[in-house]
Amino acid sequence: MASNASFSCFRTAGENTRLASCSSVNFAAFFLAMNKTPTVKAKMTLPALNVDFDTDAECRQALEELRWPDGVTCPRCQSESISRITTRKQFDCNACRYRFSVTTGTIFNDSHLPLPKWFMAIFLMCESKKGISSMQLMRMLGVSKKTAWYLNHRIRESMRIDVAEPLEGTIEVDETYIGGKPRYRVGTGSHHARKEMVLAAIQRGGEIRLQHVKKGFNKKKGQGFGNKRQFHKFIKDHAPNPARIFTDEHPAYVGIGDEDTTHETVKHAAKEYVRGDVSTNTTEGAFGLFKRSIVGSFHQISVKHLDRYLDEFEFRFNNRKNGYLFRDTITRLVTAKALPYEKLTA
Ligand SMILES: [Zn+2]
Repeated sequence: MASNASFSCFRTAGENTRLASCSSVNFAAFFLAMNKTPTVKAKMTLPALNVDFDTDAECRQALEELRWPDGVTCPRCQSESISRITTRKQFDCNACRYRFSVTTGTIFNDSHLPLPKWFMAIFLMCESKKGISSMQLMRMLGVSKKTAWYLNHRIRESMRIDVAEPLEGTIEVDETYIGGKPRYRVGTGSHHARKEMVLAAIQRGGEIRLQHVKKGFNKKKGQGFGNKRQFHKFIKDHAPNPARIFTDEHPAYVGIGDEDTTHETVKHAAKEYVRGDVSTNTTEGAFGLFKRSIVGSFHQISVKHLDRYLDEFEFRFNNRKNGYLFRDTITRLVTAKALPYEKLTA
Protein backbone atom coordinates (compact mmCIF):
# COMPACT_ATOMS: atom_id res chain seq x y z
CA MET A 1 0.00 0.00 0.00
CA ALA A 2 1.08 3.48 -0.70
CA SER A 3 1.12 4.58 2.92
CA ASN A 4 3.77 2.13 4.07
CA ALA A 5 5.74 1.97 0.88
CA SER A 6 6.32 5.68 0.66
CA PHE A 7 6.94 6.06 4.33
CA SER A 8 9.68 3.47 4.59
CA CYS A 9 12.06 5.64 2.63
CA PHE A 10 11.87 8.41 5.15
CA ARG A 11 12.82 6.47 8.22
CA THR A 12 15.86 7.88 9.93
CA ALA A 13 17.71 7.60 13.17
CA GLY A 14 15.95 10.76 14.19
CA GLU A 15 19.27 12.49 14.74
CA ASN A 16 19.47 14.58 11.67
CA THR A 17 20.32 17.89 13.27
CA ARG A 18 21.09 19.45 9.92
CA LEU A 19 17.46 19.23 8.97
CA ALA A 20 16.19 20.16 12.40
CA SER A 21 18.22 23.33 12.29
CA CYS A 22 16.85 24.55 9.03
CA SER A 23 13.26 23.54 9.02
CA SER A 24 10.47 23.48 11.51
CA VAL A 25 9.83 19.79 10.95
CA ASN A 26 10.41 17.76 14.06
CA PHE A 27 11.24 14.27 12.90
CA ALA A 28 11.67 12.78 16.35
CA ALA A 29 8.09 13.72 17.18
CA PHE A 30 7.06 12.50 13.77
CA PHE A 31 8.39 9.02 14.37
CA LEU A 32 7.03 8.83 17.88
CA ALA A 33 3.64 9.82 16.58
CA MET A 34 3.81 7.23 13.85
CA ASN A 35 4.93 4.64 16.42
CA LYS A 36 7.56 3.19 14.12
CA THR A 37 11.09 2.15 14.88
CA PRO A 38 13.42 4.16 12.69
CA THR A 39 16.12 2.21 10.92
CA VAL A 40 19.69 3.49 11.07
CA LYS A 41 19.84 4.80 7.56
CA ALA A 42 17.51 4.37 4.64
CA LYS A 43 19.24 5.66 1.58
CA MET A 44 17.11 6.26 -1.46
CA THR A 45 17.92 4.09 -4.46
CA LEU A 46 16.66 4.05 -7.99
CA PRO A 47 14.69 0.79 -7.60
CA ALA A 48 13.13 2.07 -4.36
CA LEU A 49 12.20 5.32 -6.04
CA ASN A 50 10.65 3.39 -8.86
CA VAL A 51 8.52 1.27 -6.56
CA ASP A 52 7.64 3.80 -3.88
CA PHE A 53 7.08 7.01 -5.79
CA ASP A 54 5.79 6.11 -9.20
CA THR A 55 2.25 7.31 -8.60
CA ASP A 56 0.75 10.65 -7.74
CA ALA A 57 -0.91 9.18 -4.63
CA GLU A 58 2.37 7.86 -3.23
CA CYS A 59 4.11 11.17 -3.76
CA ARG A 60 1.25 13.03 -2.10
CA GLN A 61 1.39 10.69 0.86
CA ALA A 62 5.11 11.38 1.28
CA LEU A 63 4.64 15.12 0.90
CA GLU A 64 1.89 15.08 3.49
CA GLU A 65 4.10 13.30 6.01
CA LEU A 66 6.94 15.71 5.40
CA ARG A 67 4.87 18.86 5.32
CA TRP A 68 2.70 18.06 8.33
CA PRO A 69 4.55 15.54 10.52
CA ASP A 70 2.15 16.24 13.37
CA GLY A 71 -0.99 15.98 11.26
CA VAL A 72 -2.59 18.08 8.56
CA THR A 73 -2.94 21.75 9.49
CA CYS A 74 -4.86 24.45 7.66
CA PRO A 75 -2.37 26.71 5.89
CA ARG A 76 -4.68 29.65 6.36
CA CYS A 77 -5.88 29.48 9.99
CA GLN A 78 -3.61 26.73 11.39
CA SER A 79 -6.62 24.74 12.54
CA GLU A 80 -6.02 21.03 13.01
CA SER A 81 -9.65 20.16 12.47
CA ILE A 82 -9.59 18.99 8.88
CA SER A 83 -11.81 16.88 6.70
CA ARG A 84 -10.37 14.84 3.90
CA ILE A 85 -12.00 14.98 0.49
CA THR A 86 -10.33 11.87 -0.79
CA THR A 87 -11.96 11.89 -4.19
CA ARG A 88 -10.39 15.26 -4.97
CA LYS A 89 -7.07 14.85 -3.12
CA GLN A 90 -8.06 17.84 -1.05
CA PHE A 91 -8.62 18.89 2.52
CA ASP A 92 -11.39 21.03 3.90
CA CYS A 93 -10.73 23.17 6.96
CA ASN A 94 -13.54 22.76 9.48
CA ALA A 95 -12.75 26.11 11.04
CA CYS A 96 -12.45 28.46 8.07
CA ARG A 97 -13.71 26.24 5.25
CA TYR A 98 -10.53 26.77 3.28
CA ARG A 99 -10.03 24.05 0.74
CA PHE A 100 -6.45 23.03 0.05
CA SER A 101 -4.20 20.17 -1.03
CA VAL A 102 -0.79 19.01 0.12
CA THR A 103 0.83 21.08 -2.62
CA THR A 104 -1.14 24.28 -1.99
CA GLY A 105 1.20 27.19 -1.47
CA THR A 106 4.27 25.12 -2.35
CA ILE A 107 6.55 25.03 -5.32
CA PHE A 108 4.93 21.78 -6.46
CA ASN A 109 1.76 23.68 -7.17
CA ASP A 110 3.45 26.20 -9.43
CA SER A 111 4.26 23.67 -12.09
CA HIS A 112 2.11 21.23 -13.99
CA LEU A 113 4.80 18.61 -13.79
CA PRO A 114 3.52 15.31 -12.35
CA LEU A 115 4.80 14.67 -8.84
CA PRO A 116 6.63 11.43 -9.74
CA LYS A 117 8.73 13.45 -12.20
CA TRP A 118 9.52 15.97 -9.49
CA PHE A 119 10.65 13.14 -7.23
CA MET A 120 12.74 11.67 -10.04
CA ALA A 121 14.38 15.01 -10.73
CA ILE A 122 15.17 15.51 -7.05
CA PHE A 123 16.62 12.03 -6.83
CA LEU A 124 18.80 12.52 -9.91
CA MET A 125 20.13 15.81 -8.62
CA CYS A 126 20.86 14.45 -5.17
CA GLU A 127 22.68 11.44 -6.55
CA SER A 128 24.83 13.08 -9.21
CA LYS A 129 28.26 13.45 -7.68
CA LYS A 130 29.32 16.00 -10.23
CA GLY A 131 26.00 17.72 -10.60
CA ILE A 132 23.66 17.42 -13.51
CA SER A 133 22.96 19.76 -16.38
CA SER A 134 19.54 20.97 -17.48
CA MET A 135 20.10 19.25 -20.83
CA GLN A 136 20.74 15.95 -19.10
CA LEU A 137 17.62 16.35 -16.96
CA MET A 138 15.67 17.16 -20.08
CA ARG A 139 16.79 13.95 -21.77
CA MET A 140 16.40 11.72 -18.72
CA LEU A 141 12.96 12.98 -17.70
CA GLY A 142 11.56 13.62 -21.13
CA VAL A 143 10.54 17.17 -20.27
CA SER A 144 10.96 20.43 -22.15
CA LYS A 145 14.15 22.43 -22.01
CA LYS A 146 12.42 25.17 -20.07
CA THR A 147 10.98 22.76 -17.50
CA ALA A 148 14.35 21.08 -17.07
CA TRP A 149 16.03 24.42 -16.47
CA TYR A 150 13.39 25.38 -13.94
CA LEU A 151 13.67 22.07 -12.08
CA ASN A 152 17.43 22.27 -12.02
CA HIS A 153 17.41 25.80 -10.71
CA ARG A 154 14.69 25.33 -8.11
CA ILE A 155 15.89 22.01 -6.72
CA ARG A 156 19.48 23.20 -6.56
CA GLU A 157 18.37 26.20 -4.56
CA SER A 158 16.51 24.02 -2.11
CA MET A 159 19.46 21.73 -1.67
CA ARG A 160 21.54 24.61 -0.44
CA ILE A 161 19.93 26.57 2.29
CA ASP A 162 22.45 25.57 4.91
CA VAL A 163 24.25 28.38 6.61
CA ALA A 164 28.02 27.98 6.34
CA GLU A 165 29.52 27.48 9.78
CA PRO A 166 33.06 28.64 10.47
CA LEU A 167 35.67 25.91 10.16
CA GLU A 168 37.31 24.97 13.45
CA GLY A 169 40.04 22.82 14.93
CA THR A 170 42.62 21.71 12.40
CA ILE A 171 42.35 23.39 9.04
CA GLU A 172 44.19 22.55 5.86
CA VAL A 173 44.46 25.20 3.20
CA ASP A 174 45.68 24.79 -0.34
CA GLU A 175 45.62 26.73 -3.55
CA THR A 176 45.27 25.56 -7.10
CA TYR A 177 45.36 27.16 -10.53
CA ILE A 178 42.87 26.46 -13.22
CA GLY A 179 43.08 27.03 -16.90
CA GLY A 180 45.89 25.38 -18.79
CA LYS A 181 49.60 24.78 -18.39
CA PRO A 182 51.74 23.67 -15.43
CA ARG A 183 51.11 24.89 -11.94
CA TYR A 184 54.25 26.66 -10.82
CA ARG A 185 56.25 28.53 -13.41
CA VAL A 186 58.10 31.26 -11.64
CA GLY A 187 58.72 34.27 -13.79
CA THR A 188 56.08 33.45 -16.33
CA GLY A 189 53.56 35.99 -15.25
CA SER A 190 51.94 36.11 -18.62
CA HIS A 191 50.87 32.46 -18.38
CA HIS A 192 49.25 33.09 -15.02
CA ALA A 193 47.40 36.05 -16.33
CA ARG A 194 45.07 33.57 -17.96
CA LYS A 195 44.80 31.26 -14.98
CA GLU A 196 42.22 31.40 -12.28
CA MET A 197 43.20 30.76 -8.71
CA VAL A 198 41.05 28.78 -6.34
CA LEU A 199 41.68 28.64 -2.61
CA ALA A 200 40.40 25.68 -0.63
CA ALA A 201 40.13 25.24 3.14
CA ILE A 202 39.10 21.99 4.77
CA GLN A 203 38.40 21.25 8.37
CA ARG A 204 39.95 17.90 9.18
CA GLY A 205 37.10 15.40 9.03
CA GLY A 206 34.72 18.21 8.18
CA GLU A 207 33.62 20.55 5.48
CA ILE A 208 35.36 22.22 2.59
CA ARG A 209 35.20 25.87 1.51
CA LEU A 210 36.24 26.95 -1.95
CA GLN A 211 36.78 30.40 -3.32
CA HIS A 212 37.70 31.73 -6.69
CA VAL A 213 40.19 34.53 -6.07
CA LYS A 214 40.21 37.01 -8.89
CA LYS A 215 43.02 39.11 -10.25
CA GLY A 216 45.50 38.18 -7.61
CA PHE A 217 48.91 39.76 -7.97
CA ASN A 218 52.26 38.71 -6.63
CA LYS A 219 55.29 40.93 -7.24
CA LYS A 220 57.58 38.04 -8.16
CA LYS A 221 55.13 35.75 -9.86
CA GLY A 222 52.83 38.20 -11.51
CA GLN A 223 49.16 38.32 -12.26
CA GLY A 224 46.93 35.47 -11.22
CA PHE A 225 48.97 34.25 -8.28
CA GLY A 226 47.16 35.80 -5.38
CA ASN A 227 48.70 37.85 -2.67
CA LYS A 228 49.01 37.68 1.08
CA ARG A 229 46.01 39.92 1.71
CA GLN A 230 43.74 37.66 -0.34
CA PHE A 231 45.05 34.45 1.23
CA HIS A 232 44.69 35.80 4.73
CA LYS A 233 41.23 37.20 4.08
CA PHE A 234 40.05 33.87 2.69
CA ILE A 235 41.26 32.02 5.79
CA LYS A 236 39.86 34.59 8.23
CA ASP A 237 36.50 34.57 6.46
CA HIS A 238 36.07 30.82 6.66
CA ALA A 239 38.09 29.89 9.73
CA PRO A 240 38.32 32.92 12.02
CA ASN A 241 40.06 31.13 14.87
CA PRO A 242 41.18 27.55 14.24
CA ALA A 243 43.65 25.77 16.51
CA ARG A 244 46.03 24.80 13.70
CA ILE A 245 46.47 25.67 10.08
CA PHE A 246 48.42 23.45 7.70
CA THR A 247 49.52 24.86 4.38
CA ASP A 248 52.24 24.41 1.83
CA GLU A 249 55.06 26.90 1.59
CA HIS A 250 53.42 29.49 -0.59
CA PRO A 251 54.74 32.84 0.70
CA ALA A 252 51.27 34.35 0.89
CA TYR A 253 50.45 32.12 3.87
CA VAL A 254 53.29 33.53 5.97
CA GLY A 255 52.07 35.18 9.16
CA ILE A 256 48.64 33.54 9.25
CA GLY A 257 49.31 32.04 12.69
CA ASP A 258 48.96 33.96 15.93
CA GLU A 259 48.98 33.19 19.69
CA ASP A 260 45.81 31.05 19.35
CA THR A 261 46.59 29.50 16.01
CA THR A 262 49.60 27.42 15.08
CA HIS A 263 50.63 27.67 11.47
CA GLU A 264 52.57 24.66 10.15
CA THR A 265 53.78 23.96 6.68
CA VAL A 266 54.72 20.95 4.60
CA LYS A 267 57.18 21.24 1.75
CA HIS A 268 55.18 19.97 -1.15
CA ALA A 269 57.88 21.02 -3.57
CA ALA A 270 60.29 18.62 -1.82
CA LYS A 271 57.67 15.82 -1.89
CA GLU A 272 57.15 16.13 1.82
CA TYR A 273 53.55 15.38 2.61
CA VAL A 274 53.71 14.09 6.17
CA ARG A 275 55.77 15.24 9.11
CA GLY A 276 54.43 13.91 12.40
CA ASP A 277 50.76 14.74 12.21
CA VAL A 278 51.45 17.78 10.11
CA SER A 279 50.10 16.67 6.80
CA THR A 280 47.50 17.29 4.26
CA ASN A 281 46.87 13.58 3.91
CA THR A 282 43.34 13.58 5.25
CA THR A 283 42.42 16.15 2.67
CA GLU A 284 44.50 14.77 -0.18
CA GLY A 285 41.38 12.89 -1.17
CA ALA A 286 39.25 16.02 -1.25
CA PHE A 287 41.79 18.13 -3.10
CA GLY A 288 42.55 15.26 -5.42
CA LEU A 289 38.89 14.85 -6.22
CA PHE A 290 38.54 18.57 -6.64
CA LYS A 291 41.48 18.87 -9.03
CA ARG A 292 40.60 15.80 -11.04
CA SER A 293 37.06 16.99 -11.21
CA ILE A 294 38.22 20.34 -12.50
CA VAL A 295 40.54 18.81 -15.05
CA GLY A 296 37.77 16.48 -16.11
CA SER A 297 34.90 18.90 -16.25
CA PHE A 298 36.13 22.41 -16.14
CA HIS A 299 38.69 22.80 -18.87
CA GLN A 300 36.00 23.48 -21.41
CA ILE A 301 33.91 25.70 -19.22
CA SER A 302 34.42 29.41 -19.27
CA VAL A 303 35.44 31.46 -16.28
CA LYS A 304 32.00 32.90 -15.80
CA HIS A 305 30.78 29.46 -14.74
CA LEU A 306 33.64 28.83 -12.35
CA ASP A 307 31.92 30.23 -9.26
CA ARG A 308 28.86 28.12 -9.84
CA TYR A 309 31.01 25.09 -10.43
CA LEU A 310 32.88 25.63 -7.17
CA ASP A 311 29.58 26.08 -5.32
CA GLU A 312 28.36 22.81 -6.71
CA PHE A 313 31.53 20.98 -5.78
CA GLU A 314 31.53 22.42 -2.29
CA PHE A 315 27.93 21.44 -1.79
CA ARG A 316 28.45 17.88 -3.06
CA PHE A 317 31.53 17.38 -0.94
CA ASN A 318 29.95 18.71 2.25
CA ASN A 319 26.90 16.53 1.75
CA ARG A 320 28.83 13.38 0.88
CA LYS A 321 27.77 11.74 4.14
CA ASN A 322 24.25 13.05 4.27
CA GLY A 323 22.13 9.99 3.57
CA TYR A 324 19.04 12.12 3.99
CA LEU A 325 19.65 14.54 1.17
CA PHE A 326 16.74 13.28 -0.91
CA ARG A 327 14.30 13.50 1.96
CA ASP A 328 15.73 16.82 3.18
CA THR A 329 15.42 18.37 -0.24
CA ILE A 330 11.81 17.29 -0.65
CA THR A 331 11.04 18.57 2.84
CA ARG A 332 12.55 21.92 2.00
CA LEU A 333 10.64 22.14 -1.23
CA VAL A 334 7.32 21.34 0.41
CA THR A 335 7.88 23.62 3.40
CA ALA A 336 9.85 26.34 1.64
CA LYS A 337 7.18 28.98 1.79
CA ALA A 338 6.55 28.30 5.46
CA LEU A 339 10.12 29.29 6.23
CA PRO A 340 10.78 32.96 6.88
CA TYR A 341 12.95 34.49 4.22
CA GLU A 342 15.62 35.61 6.70
CA LYS A 343 16.16 32.00 7.67
CA LEU A 344 17.04 31.14 4.11
CA THR A 345 19.47 33.98 3.67
CA ALA A 346 20.98 34.44 7.13
ZN1 LIG B 1 -8.60 27.07 8.19
